[in-house]
Amino acid sequence: MIVILKHNAQQEQIERLKAFLTNLGLRIDESRGDHSTILGLVGDTTRVDADLISSLEAVEAVRRIQEPYKKANRKFHPEDTVVDCGGVPVGGGTFQIIAGPCSVESEEQIVAVARAVKAAGATLLRGGAFKPRTSPYAFQGLHGDGLRLLKLAKQETGLPIVTEIMDASHLDLFADVDVIQVGARNMQNFELLKVLGRTDKPILLKRGLANTIQEWLMSAEYIMAGGNERVILCERGIRTYETATRNTLDLSSVPVLREKTHLPILIDPSHATGVARLVKPMAMAATACGADGLMIEVHNNPKHALCDGAQSLTPDEFADVVRRVRIIREVAK
Ligand code: PEP
Ligand code: MN
Repeated sequence: MIVILKHNAQQEQIERLKAFLTNLGLRIDESRGDHSTILGLVGDTTRVDADLISSLEAVEAVRRIQEPYKKANRKFHPEDTVVDCGGVPVGGGTFQIIAGPCSVESEEQIVAVARAVKAAGATLLRGGAFKPRTSPYAFQGLHGDGLRLLKLAKQETGLPIVTEIMDASHLDLFADVDVIQVGARNMQNFELLKVLGRTDKPILLKRGLANTIQEWLMSAEYIMAGGNERVILCERGIRTYETATRNTLDLSSVPVLREKTHLPILIDPSHATGVARLVKPMAMAATACGADGLMIEVHNNPKHALCDGAQSLTPDEFADVVRRVRIIREVAK
């Protein structure tokens, strides 16, 4: 349920109303926009007398929200959310590019890639230290050492770092990480989401391989319900019957999410296609349809990458993608 307040509502009336609602056991999510102030009510609203509240002097209207996600809902929070990621704003009309290797492999590799992507225009650095691999025999990441090397690359370039967490017990290791990624395979690891909801770190929440947009928003809601509202959504393709690409990039999720949520929306064309030469056209398409940014895998030597080499761009290819994306941004304005 949302309560839309009148433009000229007095602060004292608002405080009285909030106290009344809190007494009913509800949590209030207040959203003050340029045009209106909205009180989003979270909890069991069945006992709330909507007619009574509508009749109050300070109240413009009361509406019930049908969707099961509240805090992530644009009806609760009409203005776009901007998430500060180590000084880089994500969302709200900005356009950020996260780039870097699938996995951190060595100091030379991560520092070289970090320098190259920064020079090309990336604004955040990615690199996996804990890798969710389909095979237990595949490279699993450098773990704590990988996080140490990412920090080093950050010191070298100033780029904030984005890296994936796979288990809540590792959280202490992520103290210096700017953005914690929840990978597709963990999108519905609800206990992990609850733990992340109690942190104040920006969370990049990837869409699950076989999840609907509503399930994805419910996962965002898990994090937000715990008190952490700094959630960024990242579409990375879903499983379909198509085998020509690694996944099927659901670009329509961008305009659909734009209506449903105020959270920033990024596109990862690397995992979506699985093929380096398909990354550029899909990055351009993602930009044209209004994404808030991109996540792209870049490796200094893709042929020898320990993970996801086939979809990784060289630094030169990445620089070309950034140039193209900037042109699209200009045209789409
Ligand atoms: C990744 O970003 O390296 C990754 C494993 O992505 P996803 O969870 O989307 O497969
Ligand atoms: Mn990868």
